[in-house]
Order: sequence, then structure tokens, then C-alpha cells
Amino acid sequence: MIDIAQFNKLRARSFNEQRALLKKLSKGQTVLCQTCGDTISLNIAVKEGEKAVAQCAKGCTHIELDVA
Ligand SMILES: [Zn+2]
Repeated sequence: MIDIAQFNKLRARSFNEQRALLKKLSKGQTVLCQTCGDTISLNIAVKEGEKAVAQCAKGCTHIELDVA
């Protein structure tokens, strides 16, 4: 059985974390990967259809960003 309430809570939390992460990156602040402690860098999409990605060097943090 999937606990829907718990699932939604986790989703909301990760969404908020992503937003907080983005906010820091867009201000030029350094954000560290919670898994490996490496610096997370923001790669802006260069081609149409590509997504901007925030990731650490090892790839344990890899967040695709839905930017309009
Ligand atoms: Zn990492």
C-alpha cells in the first residue's frame, strides 16, 4: 500500500527544496550536495528543448529544472 498523504508530503518537500536550491544558485551562492558534499553547479540549457540542470560533479544530485 502506498501512503498517499506521506507521498504527497515528500513530493512537496522535495519541490520546496528544489526551489530553495534554485534560489541560492541564482544568487550565485554555493550549494553543496547533501550526498557527497561537492559543489552543485547550475548548467543552463544552451539549446532549445534542453533543460537546465543543477548537478554535482559526481552526479548524485541531478535536478532538471523546468524553466519557461
Ligand atoms: Zn553529489
